[in-house]
Amino acid sequence: MYIVMLGGPGSGKGSASKILTNQLNIPHISTGDMFREQIKKQTELGKLADSYISKGQLVPDEVTIQVVKDRLSWEDAKNGVILDGFPRTEEQAKALDQILEEQGKKVDLAPELRIPDEIIIQRVVNRVMCSNKECGAIYNLKFNPPKKTGICDICGSELISRSDDNEQTIKDRLSTYYKNSKVLVDYYKAKGVLYPICPEDPTAGNASVRVVEKIIEKCHQMN
Ligand code: ADP
Ligand code: ZN
Repeated sequence: MYIVMLGGPGSGKGSASKILTNQLNIPHISTGDMFREQIKKQTELGKLADSYISKGQLVPDEVTIQVVKDRLSWEDAKNGVILDGFPRTEEQAKALDQILEEQGKKVDLAPELRIPDEIIIQRVVNRVMCSNKECGAIYNLKFNPPKKTGICDICGSELISRSDDNEQTIKDRLSTYYKNSKVLVDYYKAKGVLYPICPEDPTAGNASVRVVEKIIEKCHQMN
């Protein structure tokens, strides 16, 4: 299954992708995570990406497409992947189709998480995540707090928040998202693979689990 996760910042796309990767046993490819990793390692790619990301701009298509193309050529990507944060432009969507087509594959499903803005803002400003990259657990101080303040329930590591998770940035990121996502939503709708999901109770602790159930159900219906 080649799955493209659509949904704005704070839509729960990342959390749902993490559960899906375990349940479907296919890799979770997040371009944002890949760029952050390169920035941390201070590689050439990291420095280049950072010069855009720190200004709130998208990394240029040719750079991003190459990064994803490389990643998709790994052995573990042969049976499917969950793409999170890519594609973000029509150019990227077309490039992805071409990369997959060369391997006789295609995007099978594009779930789109639809969450009201007020809820997204509440989610994002209260979001903390595990500093242990292997774990990557995400908590919400309001809706889904850790048992012990500042400590990950799963692995005991320290919890951190992302510097761009504040109210003004999230409002900017949301408006950018709506402006840019329309073309992708239309693109996948036209291909007949768009699957809009409006979670019944997006603030519930198990909201991501419910979203994943719906996606897996849909995958089964398609097979
Ligand atoms: P956000 O919550 O802002 O969507 P991400 O972790 O998905 O965060 O991405 C962080 C930043 O990395 C983005 O703001 C953008 O600058 C860059 N980035 C991630 N994915 C892409 C992409 N597909 N194309 C261009 N830039 C990207
Ligand atoms: Zn942890």
